[in-house]
Amino acid sequence: MAKPLYRRVLVKISGEALMGSAGFGLDPATVDRISKEIIDLRAQGVEVALVVGGGNIFRGVQVAASGIDRATGDYMGMLATVMNAMALGASIERHGETARVMSALEMPAICETFSRPKALRHFDQGHVMIFAAGTGNPFFTTDTAAALRAAEMRCEVLLKATNVDGVYTADPKKDPSARRYDRLSFDEALARDLKVMDAAAFALARENGIPIIVFSIHEPNSIVAAVMGTGRGTLVGA
Ligand code: UDP
Repeated sequence: MAKPLYRRVLVKISGEALMGSAGFGLDPATVDRISKEIIDLRAQGVEVALVVGGGNIFRGVQVAASGIDRATGDYMGMLATVMNAMALGASIERHGETARVMSALEMPAICETFSRPKALRHFDQGHVMIFAAGTGNPFFTTDTAAALRAAEMRCEVLLKATNVDGVYTADPKKDPSARRYDRLSFDEALARDLKVMDAAAFALARENGIPIIVFSIHEPNSIVAAVMGTGRGTLVGA
């Protein structure tokens, strides 16, 4: 049986990944499916941190168009990520593992506020870490939060679970001749202007030498397969 290639990983789960086939919000069966994969990884001794997005509920840029200012919209988006984090945390605990939700914005009635020393302690104690509210700053994304927390928590890899099964030479929806990369260096991705993650996230991962694996969340067991190196996806590294 395949063995994990990494001991400590950060998984970025977009909000959209949590809504399943519904157009909005949380699909409990999808949340449970993802939680079970996290639990499988824990059973293999892998330490798992999660950063969740909020796009299934709210995105700052969407409201900016309706007259609410962008920063306010972004704070609303960050609140959406907290709801997703709570749902994932509850599901992971229901399936028998302990999870700790930490928010970049203070909301002590609901969850702990992010503190790196505390987060490292929880992590060392074997809890699944779930980082909510992104970076805590408007004008950023949860991709950037994922790269930031991966660096802070000394994760060996950033797993970007998304809607596509990797990085392509062109948009596969528009260009039928688009090819998927199995491997790609940070420099090649930059030189070819390939969108792996947003620029801030990409720069953080590159500077800290944290490889990124881009893969589809829609494939069954794709998170586990990415950690084992047996899945379909693109590895972006040094
Ligand atoms: N957001 C933010 N700062 C952050 C992370 C997120 O302002 O550090 C806001 C932003 O409005 C964003 C929303 O939260 O649109 C949801 O995050 P994101 O779009 O990254 O979620 P995903 O696309 O992964 O579901």
